[in-house]
Amino acid sequence: MAQLSLRHIDKIYDNKVQAVYDFNMEVKDGEFIVLVGPSGCGKSTTLRMIAGLEDITNGQLLLDGKDITSAPPKDRDMAMVFQNYALYGHMTVYENMAFSLTLRKEDPNVIHKKVLAAAEILDLTSQLNKKPSQLSGGQRQRVAMGRSIVRSPKLFLFDEPLSNLDAKLRSSTRREILLLHKRLGATMLYVTHDQTEALTLADRIVCMSMGRVQQIGTPLELYDTPANLFVASFIGLPPMNFFQVLVSGDELFAPHFTVQMTPELKQLLSEYQGKHVTMGVRPENVVENGTVPVLVNDNENLGMNTLVHGHIGEGADNRITCKFKGWCDYKKGDVVNVSFTKMHFFDQETGNRIVKA
Ligand code: ADP
Repeated sequence: MAQLSLRHIDKIYDNKVQAVYDFNMEVKDGEFIVLVGPSGCGKSTTLRMIAGLEDITNGQLLLDGKDITSAPPKDRDMAMVFQNYALYGHMTVYENMAFSLTLRKEDPNVIHKKVLAAAEILDLTSQLNKKPSQLSGGQRQRVAMGRSIVRSPKLFLFDEPLSNLDAKLRSSTRREILLLHKRLGATMLYVTHDQTEALTLADRIVCMSMGRVQQIGTPLELYDTPANLFVASFIGLPPMNFFQVLVSGDELFAPHFTVQMTPELKQLLSEYQGKHVTMGVRPENVVENGTVPVLVNDNENLGMNTLVHGHIGEGADNRITCKFKGWCDYKKGDVVNVSFTKMHFFDQETGNRIVKA
């Protein structure tokens, strides 16, 4: 069992920088939570407060109902895996994995069993006698995870564990972490600035910006119904396109195109008649048959899809990226008439998603 409650947690560093504001969350037993956001948004600070490596300025932290707000790291029963996995070079894989248990003076038979079990889970059984220098980056990362697994902690904390790996290895190690989560059934908190890692790994994502939680939800919730402009632009690659549109009568007016509103959309935006809202359209929700003219700048073939970057009329505000199915061969200067299959709307003052009243 490992249930974590974060209640009204603030972090103010000694230099008066407030890194985290009023963080609230209930992490369920066995959940894989990913904290995601740009550099400096407070995600590592949050993880470090959970680990006990930073003091919590205000608020309360509970593990399985027990208040651990001020408990020292060693009493928290958590294991942290860093991007810089710092294995002991003079020790074998086996010794690296056994190290923390040896320090705790556990029974050598128990240590042996635990190391073998962890090696089995991580597919490291044949590597146990090697030194870290004889391993690949991905294998070293697995040994670092093995050191945590042997301790059977209540909670695993990962701080950007894949950022030192190249793109290919990142994707395979990502899948290994997912498998590991399934096998162990353990509660895991994982920090990354990479929205792809968040979407592929998380049961629930916590998206942060400037020390504040912007949205907590499943990957699909954040992708399909982003709570505000920040989440809408951060989650999804290539990012969502945004346009300023005027809500007027049955139509939405952008500088160089109009969109006819359905009765449902008119109802959703009824409070905004005569006002501007921000309309968001994901690249894959732009399709080739329509009436909105996109002037093509460039055509990027990805194999299964083609990204077409262009403008709707003049001006930097009207840039658009379209993700069309299949292979397209548009040239600079071509005009593609598009339509939008799904649109998102945000209040211009608050940046919040406009939802049904
Ligand atoms: P992230 O992990 O999202 O990149 P951090 O949690 O590391 O962000 O940092 C959040 C904010 O706190 C940043 O403004 C950073 O400069 C500041 N910060 C981080 N560590 C310290 C520290 N030890 N002392 C003062 N400010 C810090």
